[in-house]
Amino acid sequence: MAPEIVTCPVCKQKLLLQDYVTVGSEVVCNNCESTLRVEHRQPLRVALVPYQATLDPDGRPESYG
Ligand SMILES: [Zn+2]
Repeated sequence: MAPEIVTCPVCKQKLLLQDYVTVGSEVVCNNCESTLRVEHRQPLRVALVPYQATLDPDGRPESYG
């Protein structure tokens, strides 16, 4: 499997994702530094992760058992 190109949903920068990047992984755009979560492979699709969610994951109520 070869690396795939995806377009950043925020800044439209083309990003190269290696084939070991799995669905559910988070990547950071090398242009606008947005955090993106891999939603789908082949075709590759990413979604923006809200900044706050990445800032303090322990602050989310659903994190507590
Ligand atoms: Zn970007």
